[in-house]
Amino acid sequence: APLIGVLAVQGDVVEHVRALTLAGAQAVPVRRPAELATVDGLVIPGGESSTIDRLIRIFELDAPLRARLADGMPAFGSCAGMILLSGQILDGHRDQRCLGALDISTRRNAFGRQVDSFEVDLPVTGLAEPFRAVFIRAPWVERVGEDVEVLARVEREGSEHVVAVRQGRVLATSFHPEMTDDPRIHALFVEMVREAGSIDSRANTRATAR
Ligand code: GLN
Repeated sequence: APLIGVLAVQGDVVEHVRALTLAGAQAVPVRRPAELATVDGLVIPGGESSTIDRLIRIFELDAPLRARLADGMPAFGSCAGMILLSGQILDGHRDQRCLGALDISTRRNAFGRQVDSFEVDLPVTGLAEPFRAVFIRAPWVERVGEDVEVLARVEREGSEHVVAVRQGRVLATSFHPEMTDDPRIHALFVEMVREAGSIDSRANTRATAR
């Protein structure tokens, strides 16, 4: 089974570890650069994106994280994790940075404050049945680059908002699949990690054969 890390500086780490295990991966928390170096893919959990941003720099994970993402490590971000993976944050905290792994602009707390948390049955591209999506002070995606595939949109108060995207090896959702017992989104990511692993190992075999 692929080894998938869950960035464990803040946020709902345990829930992601559980969901990844249900989806057939081996899952480990990642707090140190040495741990990051061993994983085949990484989940950035829900939590508070400005806090996670601050902590990854304090834990000296910022540079290794950017390097692994640039090198094609598969990644999945839920909620705060989506904000961190994005290329631009609208309404970010002062000095808040993002990792730029997705060509999207996210708006933090876009649906409103805590009271505006909600759940809906959401059709998601690639899933046969709708997914019970839990939104908690969630961001939405306000701009989508041309290489980004939109996997889901939600309708609120008469307008549609992008809430799930994929660009190559990077997946992100505004909602929290780790908070339900439905492992299908995590299974989709585990499959992305498997695929990336076999493409990379074929490339390595070709390189050594030369
Ligand atoms: N509002 C949070 C942020 O800006 C995200 C909330 C969540 O992850 N549930 O990071």
